[in-house]
Amino acid sequence: MQKGNIGVTTENIFPVIKKFLYSDHEIFLRELVSNAVDATQKLKTLSSIGEFKGEVGDLTVHVSLGKDTITVSDRGIGLTAEEIDKYINQIAFSGANDFLEKYKNDANAIIGHFGLGFYSAFMVAKKVEIITKSYRDGAQAVKWTCDGSPEFTIEDTGKAERGTDIVLYIDDDCKEFLEEARISSLLKKYCSFLPIPVAFGKKKEWKDGKQVETDEDNVINDSTPLWTQKPSELKDEDYKKFYRDLYPMSDEPLFWIHLNVDYPFHLTGILYFPKVKSNIELNKNKIQLYCNQVYVTDSVEGIVPDFLTLLHGVLDSPDIPLNVSRSYLQSDSNVKKISTYITKKVSDRLQSIFKNDRKQFEEKWNDLNIFINYGMLTQEDFYDRAKDFSLFNDTDGKYYTFEEYKTLIKDNQTDKDGNLIYLYANNKDEQYSYIETATNKGYNVLLMDGHLDIALVSMLEQKFEKARFTRVDGDIIDHLIVKEDKKNEALEADKQEALSSIFKSQLPKIDKAEFNVTTQALGENATPVMITQSEYMRRMKEMANIQAGMSFYGEMPDMFNIVLNSEHKLVKGILVDKDKECAAAVAPVQAEMDEVNKQRNELKKKQEGKKDEEIPTAEKDQVNELDKKWETLKTQKEGIYADYAAKNKVVRQLIDLALLQNGMLKGEALNNFVKRSLELIK
Ligand code: ADP
Repeated sequence: MQKGNIGVTTENIFPVIKKFLYSDHEIFLRELVSNAVDATQKLKTLSSIGEFKGEVGDLTVHVSLGKDTITVSDRGIGLTAEEIDKYINQIAFSGANDFLEKYKNDANAIIGHFGLGFYSAFMVAKKVEIITKSYRDGAQAVKWTCDGSPEFTIEDTGKAERGTDIVLYIDDDCKEFLEEARISSLLKKYCSFLPIPVAFGKKKEWKDGKQVETDEDNVINDSTPLWTQKPSELKDEDYKKFYRDLYPMSDEPLFWIHLNVDYPFHLTGILYFPKVKSNIELNKNKIQLYCNQVYVTDSVEGIVPDFLTLLHGVLDSPDIPLNVSRSYLQSDSNVKKISTYITKKVSDRLQSIFKNDRKQFEEKWNDLNIFINYGMLTQEDFYDRAKDFSLFNDTDGKYYTFEEYKTLIKDNQTDKDGNLIYLYANNKDEQYSYIETATNKGYNVLLMDGHLDIALVSMLEQKFEKARFTRVDGDIIDHLIVKEDKKNEALEADKQEALSSIFKSQLPKIDKAEFNVTTQALGENATPVMITQSEYMRRMKEMANIQAGMSFYGEMPDMFNIVLNSEHKLVKGILVDKDKECAAAVAPVQAEMDEVNKQRNELKKKQEGKKDEEIPTAEKDQVNELDKKWETLKTQKEGIYADYAAKNKVVRQLIDLALLQNGMLKGEALNNFVKRSLELIK
């Protein structure tokens, strides 16, 4: 028997492995099984080139559980005593502590860096044995034993078959790994697609109401998964089935892309566009990353562009360096190339479906747009490709490319300054009347009801030249698309003021909402009262909801405009009626106000050109007095209008109808409206 010390420079690497890799203990199984698979593949290669002339035999890798052991056995190339010394004993370990400190949360990095695959066994085992016999002619079987200290022993042993058994004597605090179910699920997670059959125990079947073992190996993996096969030999159903196997709970995918590159890097895989029922379901960690069919991780952040992390599927590449930290990954040139390649493939695929089967593309647009919009928003080069096939959807359900849409609205929706105005609605039902008003004018209204549309609109305004997006309820339609300089407002100032007082006094109190009343000549056939909400403020608030650091806007109340149509019969009627009802009461107040105003203007005129300190205090006080008086009179006048308005059911009814049309009439106010309506019908 030979004794020795494992060639590490740190005192004892095993406590380090245990301590730092604690959270990832389970990967020991992946490491050992993939070593077994590697050794088996090497044997297959040697056999195929004639270097190994013996019988290859059944190459299945076996994982088995004993009372306190886990054994991984293969019939691969095996190891000679010299090879054990070279590959197992002398692990290079320079700068170990620094490295471990830096990457203590990233087991993959540590294991990759040191080639510690095999040593990860010590994360769960107190003692490990390697019983191995090389494929070489006349090789002597050897047994290596190490109990977790840097000391090991190596001795000759009897072993009939070529290959390696790794026996782990499981630590007392790792007993969970002796449970069949646990190992089963780990094998499923890490080994499902290894290229060599891996068996865990025997297949079971039901017999006389019990599960009994059969003679057949329980092979847990598919050694030729779909992504390793030739796309030309696969049918749609194969892709769908593979998807179902990977994501049993998901709906059928929309599209898929089979990736297959050999140069300048190796990458295979299948990416699926999932059908997303709601945005809540969007899940970033669905793509599985493999390295030569060995599962590595389901977090592909930093490897594929952010928007593509929303896709499902598998990527397999030996060229993605896994032994580095995530932050480093993004600057790796291979990773950059891979990321660019995937982006291009995805856009090519979308482009080709768009070109060859536009109908299908449109049908799936509602599910697809979340990916495409996200991509366009976050990835400049994707925008440049996607702008040719990304679609607008209008409120009639028609689809247009950006270019087609521009052509459609160019003649009719260009305003007097040459800006192209894109009208949109985000809710067809709630904004029905505004959409109707716009379409009656021959305008087209887009439907933009996606979660990313607010952000998209802002981006497109920057990308498109001389273009503005505005929601249909942003203002009266002639103000949204201003075709000629504004007509003079027909109504005199005092009438406007009276109308404003009358309507303002009857507006219900709505939490976090403020109203401003204006009058516009909208034509006698247009609605008497409408509510608009300024595009700018609304957009700021919406952005605040999705973006951090804008809470200032989020806190602001919603600002609404109540627009009275001075040309509508009912509004005109109120003006006439108000004159009749209020004139007598208003006249003396108004006369007094005019007088106050006159006096104030005279005083102000006298003070013109004087510095503040040159004006006598008495005079200043006088101005203040007049101002106060004027305010009091104004309030008095408004009170007269308010009293009148309170008795005028038409005013309340018009306000409520406008609120109702915007889904803003609720609770008690709605109830009052219904009662009042019934009274009016009687
Ligand atoms: P890596 O696999 O990254 O090289 P490991 O620590 O996992 O690092 O293994 C070290 C070496 O030990 C391997 O390169 C291989 O030569 C040898 N080895 C490990 N497991 C086996 C096995 N089951 N059969 C044959 N050789 C093995």
